Amino acid sequence: MKAVKFGGTSMSTADSILRVSRIVKSDAERRFVVVSAPGKADGENKVTDMLVAVAAARPTDRAKLFAHVRERFENIVAGVGLPVGFLKSELDGIERALETAGRDYIVSRGEYLSAYILAELLGYEFVDAAKLVKFNGEFYDDDYTESVCKIGLAGRRSAVIPGFYGSNGNGDIVTFSRGGSDISGAIIARAVGASLYENFTDVDGFMTCDPRVVPHASVIDVLTYKELRELAYMGANVLHPESIFPVRKANIPIHILNTFNPQACGTKIVPTEEFLSGKYKRTKKMPITAIAGRQHFYSLHIDKSMMNSEVGFVRRVLSCFEQFGIAIEHIPSGIDSMTVVFSSVEQSVVNALTEAIQNEVKPDHISLTTDVALIAIVGHGMKARPGTAARAINRLSNADINLRMIDQGASEINIILGVSDDDFERALVALNGEFEV
Ligand code: ASP
Repeated sequence: MKAVKFGGTSMSTADSILRVSRIVKSDAERRFVVVSAPGKADGENKVTDMLVAVAAARPTDRAKLFAHVRERFENIVAGVGLPVGFLKSELDGIERALETAGRDYIVSRGEYLSAYILAELLGYEFVDAAKLVKFNGEFYDDDYTESVCKIGLAGRRSAVIPGFYGSNGNGDIVTFSRGGSDISGAIIARAVGASLYENFTDVDGFMTCDPRVVPHASVIDVLTYKELRELAYMGANVLHPESIFPVRKANIPIHILNTFNPQACGTKIVPTEEFLSGKYKRTKKMPITAIAGRQHFYSLHIDKSMMNSEVGFVRRVLSCFEQFGIAIEHIPSGIDSMTVVFSSVEQSVVNALTEAIQNEVKPDHISLTTDVALIAIVGHGMKARPGTAARAINRLSNADINLRMIDQGASEINIILGVSDDDFERALVALNGEFEV
């Protein structure tokens, strides 16, 4: 049995929702369906963005702004052929609650309503995510959700469930971060013991490189959970980066598919160990699976003679970052120097951080570089195979691109290269050319 999730573009218009309904009906295994709110379409904004604006308005102005959301759903209801007024009592109920409701309740109503419509079209039960997905205050509670969800869905043949939100102990609605319906889909897939989590979106799958920069990038047919984490972190944003955790616990593969091109093979994301043991075959036999990158990092370079024999030096530097709540990305280091790479922060924070490090470890020299782009070369194929880093570095050097930093963990699943923001796109093209991923 399969759990299926459809994203915002798939749910954006009456036509696309009818398409979704055909896709679900074409496979009897597709019994549990999770949906996003309608996304952008025909010059209309994402419903979630419209609702964010409703929630941000003065309570007495909310109903006026909500009228547009109401109209959008009424058009969808008419377009899919449901009776006029099918959503009336739901929409009225939401409208009445607007003045006193919390932000997350308002923002989550797009998912609620689109699930309500699809359930009717499919003849599946509608089950509110508030009863299944549990938060402790504002934090998602995975263990509790797992048991509540299993009980809540036990014995049901099929259901449509809104993505993106759940509820906390007070019964208040709480949302995940944006794009969170992917996480909901994974939670439901695990709860019902699905053999596959199909995630329908509006692209053919994960690409070997960003197609806006490298136009001939191709779809990766098989990716492991580990490779996905590396790529998602580096900005390949087909899936919410946290959506992997619930399914990984249960070894359920994810299949990324395109609602608008359902025949395409898509990308299967599979348990790492099963891939390494040969259960899944990848069409392309390259040492590299994909290349992804992000711009606008900072790197702080710290020099001090005899640094490596000063016990606790690195810990004290890192405690300064912790003090300012700055997450660290990478720490390449030399004998008498270390570099800390982190996402850009405000100048005042950098100044305070630098001062704190000066006081804490009294470095000989400290300097900041503000235009760092990181590129990750990712793939299990490079493990124990000499030459990958050499090829990457050579290629960058031949393209006259200065390599500022290189970092490779012992797991040998990725090599991280730091270049300047200005060289970022040229570096992606050059590296892609080298490995032709
Ligand atoms: N509708 C929400 C968003 O736009 C959640 C989702 O689609 O996953 O972020």
